[in-house]
Amino acid sequence: MADHCTFCKIINREIPSKIIYEDDLVLAFDDIKPAAPAHVLIVPKVHLDSVDEVSAQDPIVAVLVNRASHVAKQLGLREGYRLVINNGDNGGQTVYHLHLHLLGGRFMTWPPG
Ligand code: 5GP
Ligand code: ZN
Repeated sequence: MADHCTFCKIINREIPSKIIYEDDLVLAFDDIKPAAPAHVLIVPKVHLDSVDEVSAQDPIVAVLVNRASHVAKQLGLREGYRLVINNGDNGGQTVYHLHLHLLGGRFMTWPPG
């Protein structure tokens, strides 16, 4: 738990969210400002600021990807979806608690903005 971290507060139910999936390692909830018909954030329950804090021995990113695939199936995103990790200010990261965006329900253009 990091003080003043929005996602730690969501994990601790201090801030409400629409929870889509939960287990002992991750919480997945709807993004408050969806960029697609389906937009779920998958976050580790342990606070890490960003991917820059993930060691090669830590399976958490693999767990996030695995749970994203599970949530995509749960939401019926059979035609595909996009997974995004924004990192740092230029990467568009606004919440400094590691998270994976799961976006689906429409065709995703490339390159992203
Ligand atoms: P980032 O920009 O760091 O990659 O993504 C942060 C995401 O968190 C944004 O898409 C933003 O809409 C979402 N977000 C920020 N604050 C809240 C909140 O209080 N609740 C929920 N559900 N999403 C939030
Ligand atoms: Zn946090």
